[in-house]
Amino acid sequence: MNISQNFDAGNIEVVNCEDAGNIQLKIRADKASDFYQWFYFRLSGAKNTPCTMRIVNAGGAAYPPGFQNYRVCYSYDRQTWLRHPTSLYDGVMSIEFVPEYDSVYFAYFAPYSMERHADLVARSLLSPLCAHRVVGKTLDGQDLDLLRFSSDDAGALKKNCWVIARQHPGESMAEWWMEGCIERLLDENNAETKKLLSQCNVYLMPNMNPDGSRRGHLRTNAAGRNLNREWANPEIDASPEVYFVKQAMQEIGVDFLLDVHGDESLPYCFIAGTEGLSNWDEQKQSQLGFYKNKLVELNADFQTERGYPAKTPGTANLTMSTAQTAQSHACLAMTLEMPFKDTTATPDETYGWSGERSKKLAHSCLDALSSYLESGLL
Ligand SMILES: [Zn+2]
Repeated sequence: MNISQNFDAGNIEVVNCEDAGNIQLKIRADKASDFYQWFYFRLSGAKNTPCTMRIVNAGGAAYPPGFQNYRVCYSYDRQTWLRHPTSLYDGVMSIEFVPEYDSVYFAYFAPYSMERHADLVARSLLSPLCAHRVVGKTLDGQDLDLLRFSSDDAGALKKNCWVIARQHPGESMAEWWMEGCIERLLDENNAETKKLLSQCNVYLMPNMNPDGSRRGHLRTNAAGRNLNREWANPEIDASPEVYFVKQAMQEIGVDFLLDVHGDESLPYCFIAGTEGLSNWDEQKQSQLGFYKNKLVELNADFQTERGYPAKTPGTANLTMSTAQTAQSHACLAMTLEMPFKDTTATPDETYGWSGERSKKLAHSCLDALSSYLESGLL
């Protein structure tokens, strides 16, 4: 019996793997940080053997309620990720599982590897609609890929709409969302896409945190920085990811920003606005309300009843991407949250919240953007 994690986005520490009935594991904390919750490992050599895997430090994870009513993702072929129940007792999360094959993978959510990221970027660039640039390098020396989708050469005259994903690398659903977004933007036969790309240039950062992604981090980059707390004054040697993207935004301009995330605990899809800005007003509220209500119309998985409470004006956290960008560029900026578990109103017994559902939500978000651009509220 063997447990391994030495691969792209892998994360687990083996405490004891001698007894199939009591396999003890620990999640490794992000480098130079106390955050941990993302895990991804392979169990091999246990075909037809009843196994109990215990993650003994689950109670000290960044969001312990995330492991309540949680169903782990597992896959035999690394393509299809299914769900399996877990239990949480006294800070220990247990998975009881009988593998049907010689090897099985377990992960906090369906992983989105850096290899898959490279495939996604390469595939995008085959389209004449897509242009690419490396805005900078990470601390581990990886490229920070920025994609621009535009349907004609008058690009500079159009609105510039940005979507960034995976500032928090463990939130892999954010890059599944991006894959759906890109597939939709590349669909030249889709009338909605055509209309959208005639209205605006779409700038995408499919992965804001390649180092954290490859290292199997939950929340930080290679220097232990939480990128979504770095937007006020990013330093080039500690959070180059934010430094370079903020610089590109300054140069290109921003008329709209969506920052895509996953929430460990809340079983809903929702949007958080920037109500905490000191100059929040009725116009900004109607822009935010329009986008959210449009998305409710378009996608049954999205809702506006539950989410984070809105901040009161004057209490915005300007270290976050949305507040900082809304303030600097005077535009609508929102955080989109998807669940790690599932949506309570539209549950899926087999897959829970999944890469596929994240991709569909991206399609709806693009359609909502198109309506927003047409609304005259901008
Ligand atoms: Zn996040």
